[in-house]
Amino acid sequence: MPKTVLVVAAHPDDEVLGCGGAIAMLVDQGVIVHVAFLADGVFSRTPEPGAQSEEELQLRRATAQKANKILGVKSVSFGDFPDNRMDTVALLDIVKSVEVLIAKHQPDTIFTHHAGDLNIDHRRTHEAVVTACRPRPGHPVKTLLCFEIPSSTEWQVPGSAPFFAPNWFVDISGTLDRKMAALNAYATELCPWPHPRSLQGIEHLARWRGAVIGVEAAEAFILGRHLS
Ligand SMILES: [Zn+2]
Repeated sequence: MPKTVLVVAAHPDDEVLGCGGAIAMLVDQGVIVHVAFLADGVFSRTPEPGAQSEEELQLRRATAQKANKILGVKSVSFGDFPDNRMDTVALLDIVKSVEVLIAKHQPDTIFTHHAGDLNIDHRRTHEAVVTACRPRPGHPVKTLLCFEIPSSTEWQVPGSAPFFAPNWFVDISGTLDRKMAALNAYATELCPWPHPRSLQGIEHLARWRGAVIGVEAAEAFILGRHLS
């Protein structure tokens, strides 16, 4: 049972899509959960890098705070790596920012992106977290889990990147409603059905992952490493 969890996500909404049900369940069990976003999630929606309004950025951050409050997250932090352009940043700089987060929060468990996602920021985030989690003597992180993100993980093609083959499941039957409520806070990020990132698509995935393990709803992960 973890004591302190850090979720390292590229963009606001990834944390709810990937592990919102698990976050709410862990919080219910008394676990402290911190969420950190590395990219701002706004830049790529504008024609020029940096052309987004301050107002839009603040709105996105307020939305993320609202969504994470629903889940019971203790703290939310925002990075400023360029959205959908994290391949333009030296990996070492991203690793250092993750190392700062780990030093600050001392998590025993980290949730982050899968290595094979289509989204470049997700892949860079994964690489940075794995590097920052090298199990050196005294390193706090004992468990590293990688989540799936609808409209990124399943949109990769075979042979281009590792396939998402989950081997770790969390029963979220009791917290699916809070995951969906947190997603509703991110309403502007959702798409109409039939899109994987529609409310229906997200619930169908949770129901399917649940069916795989014989429960009402679940979130699926790949275990990167576990030390006990
Ligand atoms: Zn994302």
